[in-house]
Amino acid sequence: MNLISAVDAAIPAEPFICRHLIAGEWRDSASGETYDRMSPAHGCLVSRAALGAEADAEAAIVAAREAFDSGVWSRISGKERATILLRVADLIEGNVERMALLETLESGKPISQSRAEVSGAADLWRYAASLARTMHGDSHNTLGPDMLGVVVKDPIGVVSMITPWNFPFWILSQKLPFALAAGCTTVIKPSELTPSTTVMLGELLFEAGMPAGVVNIVLGYGPAVGGLMSTHEAVDMVTFTGSTAVGKAISAAASSTLKKVALELGGKNPQVVFPDADIESAADAITFGVYFNTGQCCNSSSRIIVHEDIVDEVVERVVELSKRVAFGDPLDPRTQVGAIISVQHQGKIDDYVRAAVTEGAEIALGGGPMTVPGLEGQFYQPTVVRGVSPEMAIAREEVFGPVLSVLTFRTMDEAVALTNDASYGLSAGVWSENVHTCLEFSTRAHAGTVWTNTWMDGFPELSFGGVKQSGQGREIGRYGLEEFFEIKTLVMRIGRTREPWVRPE
Ligand code: NAD
Repeated sequence: MNLISAVDAAIPAEPFICRHLIAGEWRDSASGETYDRMSPAHGCLVSRAALGAEADAEAAIVAAREAFDSGVWSRISGKERATILLRVADLIEGNVERMALLETLESGKPISQSRAEVSGAADLWRYAASLARTMHGDSHNTLGPDMLGVVVKDPIGVVSMITPWNFPFWILSQKLPFALAAGCTTVIKPSELTPSTTVMLGELLFEAGMPAGVVNIVLGYGPAVGGLMSTHEAVDMVTFTGSTAVGKAISAAASSTLKKVALELGGKNPQVVFPDADIESAADAITFGVYFNTGQCCNSSSRIIVHEDIVDEVVERVVELSKRVAFGDPLDPRTQVGAIISVQHQGKIDDYVRAAVTEGAEIALGGGPMTVPGLEGQFYQPTVVRGVSPEMAIAREEVFGPVLSVLTFRTMDEAVALTNDASYGLSAGVWSENVHTCLEFSTRAHAGTVWTNTWMDGFPELSFGGVKQSGQGREIGRYGLEEFFEIKTLVMRIGRTREPWVRPE
């Protein structure tokens, strides 16, 4: 394993101060309380944030409602919305270094990845701006000689956005510019672990000329802030990315007012390797798929399902490649894999590995916590577990760490059955040089996305989301925008007098 520890960017001497953004003003919490966020890799203080509660969430929701109803954003032209979204994209690009540093310090991910994430997010804002000018409904002039039907797309209204810590700025950018392009107003709650880049975005929105109250940000812990955001009568929709357990709680809470709910949840995503696959390429994609973001990724390919004739060769190659992945200091630009988000989470990852060993699985590499010289935070070894059977927890549940489970199959039916034997259905991958094998697997796999001979490529044009307990609704792409619309039908009589319903006397 490559251990990296030289640093590229300096840790700021003072913590970044995060306040709520409500009705165009930066505000402390009604209670006056704050909380500190320490770096999971370096152990230092990174940010100090206002600790929100219901009173702060209430003020933000009222501000978003008033802004929506005023029409200051919901009733302006697509061109005007697009102009501001494009300005935001430029400002994000001008602030990549600042934002990436805070993203890395709060999340423990490598600085090179944070830079790519922030600059990639700017492209989501640009793409959403293009949709703001091209979205349209339908017209029907074939309903009869004197009738015209028009179906318009209205912004759904006030949208609550609740986001996780693993890709804080990217995930916010999968939601916010699309909701804004549709004409919605918003209240955002970032994860309590990673508030800073959401607050920085608030500053950029001001600079871009976003009207007050259109985007509001409330900081703090889940139920204290997110609870009201899921139940309040003035909220029309909740879009949530996070764990399946919290997604279910939000969905149940939102049902009291029947507001729309969109959910992007967990995954247990397999890469399936057939015997005729390009094994070199598959092994590299498997290594990337399991260690990217330290495995703390909804799209982590935390299990592979390999034909039994080639399993030894595939595991051997993945183990060799795993040893060459640069684990270490997230501030070093050469680092590919950084820290684990918390000590508790590190313990949970280790519990899955220990339980699998007790149940008869075999460790081919790693299998425990590790330290990085000079750093106080928590890290976990690149880990490959083979001899995993489908009923083990490590094969079924989200481990959310750099841990790969290896299962085997003999026939296409078995590969499909193992893939679909999961409560999740976010993504899957197939490796084969035979187009029929790839097509058959892709069409039979229960997943929102299926990759063929690649892993985790994504584009703003292509929608993303899960089936089964991986979520509901889609983000980005054209369908990602559609989520933020309400459909309204206008039926219009033209010209001649309407045929009376009451018979003439
Ligand atoms: P989490 O569910 O613990 O928290 C997510 C957000 O919900 C945080 O802002 C948190 O404060 C808030 N929250 C917690 N309890 C709440 C409640 N009762 N009411 C309202 N809000 C509440 O998830 P996490 O640990 O931050 O993120 C990791 C999870 O996110 C993983 O399961 C991962 O698979 C999933 N995820 C999914 C996608 C996707 O696109 N499908 C993307 C990234 C992460």
